[in-house]
Amino acid sequence: MLTVKDLHVYYGAIHALKGISLEVRQGEIVTLIGANGAGKTTTLHTLSGLIKPKSGVIRFQDQDIAGMAAQKIVAMGMSQVPEGRRIFANMSVLENLELGAFLRKDKDGIKEDMEKVFTRFPRLKERTSQLAGTLSGGEQQMLAMGRALMSRPKLMLLDEPSMGLAPLLVQEIFAIIKEINEAGTTILLVEQNAHMALSIAHKAYVLETGKIVLSGPAKELAESEEVKKAYLGG
Ligand code: ATP
Repeated sequence: MLTVKDLHVYYGAIHALKGISLEVRQGEIVTLIGANGAGKTTTLHTLSGLIKPKSGVIRFQDQDIAGMAAQKIVAMGMSQVPEGRRIFANMSVLENLELGAFLRKDKDGIKEDMEKVFTRFPRLKERTSQLAGTLSGGEQQMLAMGRALMSRPKLMLLDEPSMGLAPLLVQEIFAIIKEINEAGTTILLVEQNAHMALSIAHKAYVLETGKIVLSGPAKELAESEEVKKAYLGG
């Protein structure tokens, strides 16, 4: 579904991604783990069209999308749930969800997906008219995920969904990510919480200062001494 080859990204003189290659197959949860500043967010932003790469190949659904406008990429079925949620704080829950569907014209499909979002996130249904900025951190994460689902994505990119959430809530969010995947959405998950990410992913990549240094089945990486030492607290 997604193939990335030798991707290089710069911020001015800073070489942030130094030849990233990765593959996401349909139906998988793939995770990209790494410490602060490794380049995880930069990778997601480049895939979703927010940053233009200097060189490299990004193929999504058999099309070359490197450098394509973000809106076009969303229309092709890739949707990002940004780090720190980035919901529209001064708009209601319902308006935020409607915005997720802004590229769609199939009214019946939109209605159907709104119902699905409310079934998956009952707490959002109870709060449709509440201003999004007044939701709790966990509810904002749910809203950001719900908004992404409203574009009916084939591939969902998640940027650190565990950030700033209490452990119980992290478990709840990860259980929902697994359910979304089981219902047919392919997922690329960026996380600093390697333990949680490896527990739900099929495949994993470890990013260090702009380079993939390890990759393999998530189960194997979770058992590797290198990963245990550096990312799983020994
Ligand atoms: P975090 O988990 O802290 O968000 P990350 O793995 O997502 O880290 P990135 O945000 O992708 O890392 O940053 C990768 C590198 O690029 C870092 O060294 C960062 O300082 C640098 N960087 C990111 N954004 C910019 C920018 N707009 N201008 C200059 N340098 C940047």
